[in-house]
Amino acid sequence: MAAYDDNNIFARILRGEIPSHKVYETDTVLAFLDVMPQSDGHTLVVPKKAKARNLLDADPETLADLIKTVQHVAVGVQKAFGAEGLLIQQFNEAVAGQTVFHLHFHIVPRKEGATLRGHGAAMEKPEILAANAEKLRQVLNG
Ligand code: 5GP
Repeated sequence: MAAYDDNNIFARILRGEIPSHKVYETDTVLAFLDVMPQSDGHTLVVPKKAKARNLLDADPETLADLIKTVQHVAVGVQKAFGAEGLLIQQFNEAVAGQTVFHLHFHIVPRKEGATLRGHGAAMEKPEILAANAEKLRQVLNG
């Protein structure tokens, strides 16, 4: 497996070099909206400090900490977007569909009859992302 690259897009978001719609954070984990959402409210959850490409090279403590926040954010996403269910996804290496090589979980709201948009297929309008982020922040941060 290739080495972790400090210049991947999520590392740059974590360093504040490029903007993101942040919705929740702890000392160790950041959650922000996916710019190419598969459904409204599609959220990404990433470790802040761990230099892990994906699940395969992450240490177990990082994963344990991360999944707790995934659950917390998922409950908030479900509430904020009225989801009937949630798809939690995590890709490992390009052959499995991974495109950004910093460990992350996807939280994708699902509703009966609503088909998902493609994975990384189309950029959402900034004003829609901003409104969805605010809606989710209200639920997660009160
Ligand atoms: P992966 O394929 O690695 O599991 O998922 C990477 C995700 O990151 C994709 O769903 C894609 O839409 C999203 N993404 C790519 N570039 C950016 C970006 O600059 N900002 C944000 N917030 N998401 C991004």
